[in-house]
Amino acid sequence: MTPRIIRADAILPGEERPLRDGAVVLDASDTILDAGRAEDILARHAGAPIEHVRGVLLPGLVNAHAHVELSGLRGKVAGGSGFVPWVDRMMGIRASEQPEEDSAAIEEGAAELEAFGTVAIGDVTNTLSAVHALARHGIGGIVFHEIARLDPARAFTRLAEMKAEYDAAAATWPTADLAYAPAPHTVYTVHPDAIRAVLASSRVRGVRTTVHLAEHPAERTFLLEGRGPFVDFARKMGFAIDGFPVPRRSPVDVAADLGLLSPDVLLVHLTDIRARELEAVVASGAPVVLCPRSNLFIEVRLPPLIEMLNAGMVPALGTDSLASNLSLDVLAEAKALGERFPSVPKGVLTDMATAAGARALGRQDLGRLAKGLRPGVLSVEGELAQSEDPCAWVLRQPATCRRWVARRGGTSKEIPS
Ligand SMILES: [Zn+2]
Repeated sequence: MTPRIIRADAILPGEERPLRDGAVVLDASDTILDAGRAEDILARHAGAPIEHVRGVLLPGLVNAHAHVELSGLRGKVAGGSGFVPWVDRMMGIRASEQPEEDSAAIEEGAAELEAFGTVAIGDVTNTLSAVHALARHGIGGIVFHEIARLDPARAFTRLAEMKAEYDAAAATWPTADLAYAPAPHTVYTVHPDAIRAVLASSRVRGVRTTVHLAEHPAERTFLLEGRGPFVDFARKMGFAIDGFPVPRRSPVDVAADLGLLSPDVLLVHLTDIRARELEAVVASGAPVVLCPRSNLFIEVRLPPLIEMLNAGMVPALGTDSLASNLSLDVLAEAKALGERFPSVPKGVLTDMATAAGARALGRQDLGRLAKGLRPGVLSVEGELAQSEDPCAWVLRQPATCRRWVARRGGTSKEIPS
């Protein structure tokens, strides 16, 4: 098959300005051979077949933080009163329902990710139960196998179990496009010795890991003072909290002490971060992932996006799980931020859902429409007025206007309705 040209009213290359009347050239494996202004592309690739798209082309989306195995909890957990009441309600539901065993809901979650235009994910799991569903829907990225144990003996027992679970899964691991890494849940729910062990293990494997950090005030109160709503919840649940050494340091300081402020650790949330702590995160080069709709659902607050952007950081985006969100659509996260931070250029928001996510996951082959990459190409179709910012227009269109123009791997496929 000869190279083919896709020409559209505009293309969003990622990390640069949108191009009006743009085009991409794809080979049979959907690798981008060229991208730029249609005029230049047509001159350089004369004779190649041309497909015209009414609308905008953008790279496949990157959802840098989700929990697909919790998809069975969609619509079941009430939010709005803070993290500890939310997690308490979720654990109450989990006493009688195991979402990780709800394979139909997991399959639906993975199909939804594909339908929204997702090529890669940072998917947190306790059970590895979503791995095959993600692969079936062409979604790559990193599977973060999560530990949450406060007591050191229990934590190391769990790490040994996780290793056995991974060894068993590795024989039928569905795709090299999904990497595996162990990951600590948070710095207040995992014993520090186990966090160090997880970090060492992911570094030996040469993969990134992740941690939820500075998500809510109860986390800070527990780490600084050893008291508060989290302690009450942990005692009620029977967690072995007395085995956890209260550091009397802030969440970000604890993360720094443990070596988690590092370019190979994705820091998720930072909803409750302070200015001084943000400086430390920025200086560390650690990738940051924001989950704005989940934060609004649980805590009714947002991370300090303007301060982050002013500090030179472009965070990635994630949806978190359907236990705290309406959908797994990462472009809806960008849209939600745009509504609440209207001064932020819309091109920054679309980059957060694509290029920044790819960077956070260490996937430089994704997230941009650029020569040599194989990012998956998505079209958002409709009437784009000449006067309109293509990025703002993309964020305004309903998800049903999206279509896969090119999948990674060369099998062009319609979005399932
Ligand atoms: Zn999460």
